[in-house]
Amino acid sequence: MKHKKDCPFCEPKVFGVTFLESKNFRAIYNAAPILPGHSMIVPKSHVESLMKLNDKELCELVRLGRDAVKVLQKAFHTRSFNWTIQEGEPAGQTVGHLHVHIIPRSAKDLPRPGDWYPKLAAWKGKIIDSKSRKRISKNEMDSIVSHLRKMK
Ligand SMILES: [Zn+2]
Repeated sequence: MKHKKDCPFCEPKVFGVTFLESKNFRAIYNAAPILPGHSMIVPKSHVESLMKLNDKELCELVRLGRDAVKVLQKAFHTRSFNWTIQEGEPAGQTVGHLHVHIIPRSAKDLPRPGDWYPKLAAWKGKIIDSKSRKRISKNEMDSIVSHLRKMK
């Protein structure tokens, strides 16, 4: 499995924030969520682009995303979600490791439904060491992740 030094999604810390996984992908909880439940699907190895996945991996990625949504539906009591991929720097990709954002939504969580995107665009991608966004504490993270792990 290919890993890259200093990549937040390749760091061993990523194990502690994983609440669901398949053979090649993991669902992780964001340490600096833009809304409660903000999670991501990432490949276990350092893959930069969606275009590098074969059909089988692409299917595995979407299936894990769906399974993560099922967990988040129960945990965050909603059936509304934003899914997004920022592919390439001009599209807002800040970490060169493919990640699909999955964000639970609920009525009036933001002033307008589309307001999540500017928040995401301002996200600097430092999932584990974000300083630019309010982080959840280690205890809070551990408790959310263990709660989500029990919900599969
Ligand atoms: Zn990586």
